[in-house]
Order: sequence, then C-alpha cells, then structure tokens
Amino acid sequence: MESVKYLIIGAGPAGLTFANMLKRRGETSFLVLEAEDEAGGLCRSKEVDGAPLDIGGGHFLDVRDPEVVEFVFSFMPEDEWDRYDRISRIDLGHSVIDYPFESNIWQLPEDEQIGHLLAISRAGCNTGEEKPAEFSRWIPWKLGEKVAEDYMLPYNRKMWCMDLDRIGTYWLEKLPDVSFEDTLRSCIRHSSIYESLPGHASFYYPKKHGYGKVWLDMADAIRDNMVYGVKASELDLDERTVNGHYKGEYIINTAPWTGFEKIPGIGDDMKKALEKLVHTSVVIKYFDETADTDSHWTYFPDEEKEYHRILYRANFCPGSKGYWTESNLKRADLNDGRPYYINEYAYPVNTVDKREAIALILDEAKKKSVIGLGRWGQWEHFNSDVTVKRAMKLANDMI
Ligand SMILES: Cc1cc2nc3c(=O)[nH]c(=O)nc-3n(C[C@H](O)[C@H](O)[C@H](O)COP(=O)(O)OP(=O)(O)OC[C@H]3O[C@@H](n4cnc5c(N)ncnc54)[C@H](O)[C@@H]3O)c2cc1C
Repeated sequence: MESVKYLIIGAGPAGLTFANMLKRRGETSFLVLEAEDEAGGLCRSKEVDGAPLDIGGGHFLDVRDPEVVEFVFSFMPEDEWDRYDRISRIDLGHSVIDYPFESNIWQLPEDEQIGHLLAISRAGCNTGEEKPAEFSRWIPWKLGEKVAEDYMLPYNRKMWCMDLDRIGTYWLEKLPDVSFEDTLRSCIRHSSIYESLPGHASFYYPKKHGYGKVWLDMADAIRDNMVYGVKASELDLDERTVNGHYKGEYIINTAPWTGFEKIPGIGDDMKKALEKLVHTSVVIKYFDETADTDSHWTYFPDEEKEYHRILYRANFCPGSKGYWTESNLKRADLNDGRPYYINEYAYPVNTVDKREAIALILDEAKKKSVIGLGRWGQWEHFNSDVTVKRAMKLANDMI
C-alpha cells in the first residue's frame, strides 16, 4: 500500500492545480493518479496535420480572477499567448448572424426580424405569464417562440440528445429577459443590443501550441508525484483507498463519480444519488480543408448536420489550416474516414434533480474525507479558469 496525505484522482486542470498548490505550500506527501498516459484531461491537445488540435473540443482561456491569471501565467507566461477579440456566429442555413442570437436579430432579413419582434412581444416573460418548469416551455417563455424554434431548441436537442424536459432551467436563470424594446431599437439602429459580448468577449490561445500545453507544464512541475496509466476503478470510502493499492489521509476526487466500478462503503442514499448523475459524450473530428470565414467558431442548430459547432483552427492558431467539429457521440458518424477523438465524459448534464443529487454525494463523501473537486467531482459546467480557482481555494482551505 502506498500511503500519502493527499491522494488526488485525475490530472486535469482540477487535480493539477490542487497538486501544484500543495507543492508551492511546501507539502510533499501527495500523489496524482491519472488514467491516461498524459495530463490535461479535457484540455489536452494533439498535433494533427502539422498543428495543434484540442481533442476535448475548442478551449480558450478567459480569466478574470487575478490570482488565477497569475497562477496560469506562472506556468506559461502571457507573452506565449495570443489574445483575440471573439468572433463567433450562428449559422441558420439561410443566414449567418453574430452570437448571441437575441442581440443580433437586426442582421436577419426584414421579414425574419418582424417575426422575431412579434414573438418576443408575446414571450411569457414579457407578458407576465407564469414561468414554466420544463426546459422546452421555458425557452420560448424566456426568448420568444421564434428564437426557440429557429435556434435554441434544435441546438439543445443536438447538444444533449435527450428529452429536453429532463434538463432543469436553474442554470439558465441568469440569462437576461429578451426585451421587446431593446430588440426593436437594435433592429432600427442596425446595431447589437449589448455593447460587448456577455461572456468570453476576448480570450487567449497559445501562440505555438494547443491549449493542452499549459497543463503539461503544470504536470511537469510535479512530475515526481504523478502516476500515469492508473485508472481508479475501486474507491473505498471507509478505508480511503484506491484500487486497494493507494491510500490517502484525504482523497481529492476529480474523476467522474459514475466512472468507478466499485465504491465500497457507499450508503444507499449516495448510491441512489449517483444514479441521477447524467453526462454526455462529445466527438471531435478534424477536416483538412480551410473554410472561408474569419469566425473563431460557429454554432449550427440545423439538425441535418451532425455537429453543433465548428472551430476554425486557422483563425486562432497561426500557421495552421483546417477546422474541427464538435458533435454529441450519439449523432456522430465514426466511419467517414475523418480523424476523430471521443470524450466520453464531456458535459455534466444539469438535469432537474442534479443539484440535490450532487449535494448529497459531496456531503456523504466529505464525511469520509473524500472531497469532490472540478467539473466531474462537483458535476458542474466549470470552465478551466473556474476549475483552477476552485482547486486553489480548496488547497488553501485544506492546508
Ligand atoms: C467541448 C468543450 C469545450 C470547452 N471549452 C472551454 C473553454 O473554451 N474554456 C475553458 O476554460 N473551459 C472549457 N471547457 C471546460 C474545461 O474542459 C473544464 O473546465 C476542465 O477540463 C475541467 O477540468 P477537470 O480537471 O475538472 O476535469 P477534466 O479535464 O475532465 O479532467 C479529469 C481527469 O481525470 C482523469 N480521470 C477520469 N477518470 C479517472 C479515474 N477513474 N482514475 C484516474 N483518472 C481519471 C481524466 O483522464 C482527466 O485527465 C470546455 C469543455 C468542453 C467539453
């Protein structure tokens, strides 16, 4: 049995940040177990056709928290990154408009604009209708029937490939109501509703590498404490052991809770809660032709197309060509001869009962000094910067 104070499962941004924080604080008794033969998790990149390709999907760094900025740039200095003002679009088949949809309705043909204005004027959030609980009714209530039908509902059907009413609305509640007046003004003035994009208005991407490089550098800084090629398949909560071979005074779990084959010590409530956790899988496919666009990426709600997003690598990765697509695994044709990468765990799904389920799991596990951290440990749509922030905070709190 190998025993350490902190046993960390998973070397994605969460595990790597936590481990590096320990090291910086002088802690030496820790070990990171990683199932793959390299670090980085969903943020990994590979060299494909002479340039980097993000195999977990398009990854861009948009950090606001100064401590996170300092931490990330301490591994890969700012001058090794290019900064871009985001150009992203929505391809509706008949028209291509800037993202976000509700802000750029003015870019559509006149009849389409009128259709949207009428629908927004009748949207439930503008007429005082009671807020529906189901996702598929909440979307038109919030954004108008036409934004829902032309974009949000087909796009979400493609993304999730599941009954949309299993998805909660709590994670979208921060979206501003679509205002009839603002949309009308924007159509008359021919300008966006928002002065700048609500999120990811600008971002960093490495000059010479894919997004995976910074995480490889983080792993290198703790190389003596890394174990690759070990998938934690048995997590014993009472003994705090993994695979009957590694033991921690604390276990920091950043791997998907639903991915363990055995969890000795699990109670009935936690077992039931685990059954409620849902995830989706994403396939990244590479195309070697370069598209004629200045977009960094474009969203595709058209359900005839297998992918929901295209990332135009040539527009953010200097000297590269080609593009890659992102599709839900359930929609992807893996026999078309294109190189592809499957990410089994890509999106934790915000199902109606997820919040209670993950809260119970985290509570029960914590009582046994097993702590969930990161996108899978906390089953949340954290971006990498938020994951880093969470891991830094946990390390600071625990040391
Ligand atoms: C399509 C897509 C686009 C995204 N775009 C962005 C973006 O533009 N910007 C951004 O900041 N974030 C983005 N994200 C989010 C980003 O990927 C996550 O925030 C980040 O990867 C979370 O890090 P993590 O360590 O929690 O999880 P992960 O990156 O998933 O890492 C988990 C690690 O645990 C390992 N593991 C799993 N199971 C086991 C096991 N049983 N035993 C041992 N090891 C195990 C995995 O191999 C992996 O290395 C995107 C995500 C997706 C899916």
